[in-house]
Amino acid sequence: MNKIFISALMSTSFFSFSAFAASSPQTPIQQQKQVSGFYQHQVGDVQITALLDGTNFMSPSLFKDISPQQVQEILKKYYADQDKGVQTSINAFLVNTGKSLILVDSGAESCFGAHLGSILKNLVASGYKPEQVDTILLTHLHPDHVCGISQKGTANFPNATVYVSNDEAKYWLDPKQAAKLPKDKQANYLSTVEMIKEAIAPYQAKQRFKTFKLGDEIQGFKVINTAGHTPGHYSYELKTKDQSVVFIGDIVHSHTVQFDKPQTAIEYDIDPKKAVQTRLKQFANFAKNGQTIAAPHLPFPGIGHIYSVDGKSYQWIPTHFKD
Ligand SMILES: [Zn+2]
Repeated sequence: MNKIFISALMSTSFFSFSAFAASSPQTPIQQQKQVSGFYQHQVGDVQITALLDGTNFMSPSLFKDISPQQVQEILKKYYADQDKGVQTSINAFLVNTGKSLILVDSGAESCFGAHLGSILKNLVASGYKPEQVDTILLTHLHPDHVCGISQKGTANFPNATVYVSNDEAKYWLDPKQAAKLPKDKQANYLSTVEMIKEAIAPYQAKQRFKTFKLGDEIQGFKVINTAGHTPGHYSYELKTKDQSVVFIGDIVHSHTVQFDKPQTAIEYDIDPKKAVQTRLKQFANFAKNGQTIAAPHLPFPGIGHIYSVDGKSYQWIPTHFKD
């Protein structure tokens, strides 16, 4: 290469660099919704479609038995943006076993405002139809899990049978329950009951609202008592080939604070002490046995594994994105 050619090359590249530098910076496009509201993941013979309902923001003061300073330190360590509060996802999971199409939890629909309620839209976007869902498994009856089954008195999944534990149904649907609660909890309880009743009504009308007890199995899913967050909270385990996936429900609400310090309860827990015991027991089991975890309140898609170095604190290992 001769000198003239090199200098010509350099001046050309210099020219194009200055042309680039001189042009005005591109204005970023205002971010709308992210494209992906569903994510498909295969475990053994089973296809899991994680569905995003939306993003919620929690106050750091909701964490119990931990100082605000400790909460701040953990959030900082995880680079958890706190501008609007502690970010948490609301996810549900559509499970195709080849024989059955099962929805585990269903999101908040319109119970908590327009920032949530995208399960149905994302289910359709993933290629499935709501009529194809034959079974709905609810981990518990909090509105961010049950409201998505219907809309203004109409079932969103007209061919599905809804299952929840006997204990959970009793706690929310027994008219005598409110009087048993402390006075300051009653109003909140009753407004939750109203949302639950409205959501389940179209299924009850068709005898498609059913309860289960420990030891039962539904469409191949084993039920696991994980009470504490609510009195009848259950998780669901599905075995496929030599693998296992557990739909844990609300045994955890934060991939930061409650993994670092799993003994930290959250304000939403009805029995905080029991909720912590349940988390400690289940996390130890998952870290030891390596089940795939699907969680409604871990960052979307909420699928991954739980790892621990010392059996005291844990780490969330999210699934690796595959296109
Ligand atoms: Zn929840």
